[in-house]
Amino acid sequence: MPPPAPSSAPLALDTLAEGVRAGQRRALAKAITLVESTRPDHQEAAQRLLELILPSTGKAARVGISGVPGAGKSTFIEAFGLYLLSIGSRVAVLAVDPSSARSGGSILGDKTRMQRLSAAPEAFIRPSPSGGSLGGVARRTREAMLVCEAAGYDVIIVETVGVGQSEFAVASMVDFFLVLMLAGAGDELQGIKKGILEIADALAINKADGDNVRRAEQARAEYRGALRLFRHASPNWDPPVVTVSALQQRGMDTVWSIIQDHRDKLTASGELAAKRREQQLAWFWNMLDAGLKTHFLARPDVTELLPGIQTAVAEATLTPTEAARRLLALLTRSGAPAEAGEPRRMRTA
Ligand code: GDP
Repeated sequence: MPPPAPSSAPLALDTLAEGVRAGQRRALAKAITLVESTRPDHQEAAQRLLELILPSTGKAARVGISGVPGAGKSTFIEAFGLYLLSIGSRVAVLAVDPSSARSGGSILGDKTRMQRLSAAPEAFIRPSPSGGSLGGVARRTREAMLVCEAAGYDVIIVETVGVGQSEFAVASMVDFFLVLMLAGAGDELQGIKKGILEIADALAINKADGDNVRRAEQARAEYRGALRLFRHASPNWDPPVVTVSALQQRGMDTVWSIIQDHRDKLTASGELAAKRREQQLAWFWNMLDAGLKTHFLARPDVTELLPGIQTAVAEATLTPTEAARRLLALLTRSGAPAEAGEPRRMRTA
């Protein structure tokens, strides 16, 4: 049984939820801090807060933006965000950067990034939560996204660096995933992970300005060709490739109309709702998997047996399957879980 909550807690959470729904920045920042906290009592409060605001979530356009360092993500997000503000939208910018723990907060941590956007009252910018696994960082960003939606932001941009697995984590929490590209020298497709092209809903070749316009156009044609090799997840969507200049703030309207077109088409076909349902369920299963593992590994009988079993597996005196089976058997304490007929022990010479 969890300890009883302090009597003032529910009232404070109600007030906080109300402040969030009223779009108060201080309440918003406080709520996100709560969601990002790793303290168990904060996490419990955060979940209660999320329950309170859940009915006010889900209305925003959720847009993921990825690109290698130097692709122009922060310049693009500033230009795009300012464009969205100019057409009357409210914009929140969040990030997923699991490396920020090591680098001391890289993505969005730098105060010089997106200066104009961050000064705008209708925009809200939050650096990536730092510390922990990619899963933990992604969870906190997802929940921050819900808080921003409840606070009335129309467009939530989730930025991530184009390295590691973080793009996939971001793609699994947004409606639309945009990848910023650069026109390289010659071999356009080199170094581009195939997986990225498969999850992109659009590619934008950035820095299409000055001397670079022709090369950007060429890159666009090449990426178009490359994208034809993949079947997009939606039969109703063919990912467009456009050229933009974040620096000159050109192409922002085009990108926004693509996002809206995607939204309209996938809403009409029911795919957007289905996608969000799937994302919710995948998130739930992730949480359950992670929770089960943490819970299991914290058991005293498991901590006692684990080191010896790990050594035996590493030295190949025990098969990984049997090792896992022996540990899992602790859950029932009456022998291994049923997989009758299989040998219980690896025969060692
Ligand atoms: P990030 O690492 O992906 O966030 O990239 P930044 O936004 O910090 O941009 C990296 C560099 O590219 C900076 O010097 C920007 O000024 C420059 N840059 C970004 N967008 C453009 C663009 O559209 N045209 C040109 N010429 N330079 C750009």
